[in-house]
Amino acid sequence: MAAFARERGRLEGQHPVTGMARLSEGLHPPADAPASQVQWSAEGLWSQPLGDRPQLRLRLRARTTVWLTCQRCLQPVPLPLEIDRTVRFAKDEDEAARLDEEEDEEDVLALTRSLDLPALLEDELILALPIVPQHETCPQALPWSAEPSVPPGGTSDADAPEHPFAVLKQFSRKE
Ligand SMILES: [Zn+2]
Repeated sequence: MAAFARERGRLEGQHPVTGMARLSEGLHPPADAPASQVQWSAEGLWSQPLGDRPQLRLRLRARTTVWLTCQRCLQPVPLPLEIDRTVRFAKDEDEAARLDEEEDEEDVLALTRSLDLPALLEDELILALPIVPQHETCPQALPWSAEPSVPPGGTSDADAPEHPFAVLKQFSRKE
């Protein structure tokens, strides 16, 4: 990994979303949806600030399309997912812990001989998933669509009657 960064190495490729088990677990693609691919690249960055020790970073970029369940109409919604993250490497766990406290902006990882790049990529994609996925415009006009929707991170009206589709969904899970 150190050599990769020092040489400003660059790797790129594509990986089927279905090959990422933890990410796929939270997705709900319709049966006829084409398989999504994750386009990704990893770039080693090496810098030596004046009077400081060399710093190693990995810039991870990826983009794909994920199928989630729209929180308004409960239909599948395809959403673009894109990450551009820089991970800084520390020489060991102690330094990683120390840097992690100092750095708010960056992820810090201890430098290990073998880096599990696919797992790191998958972690970052999972973290980037929208909390409240929604269609920009839901495909069907729903009788309750005139009601104000729940803001992201907000709480829904506890007295609201249960969404009829939510009930259907519970049934389909029981099969
Ligand atoms: Zn919708």
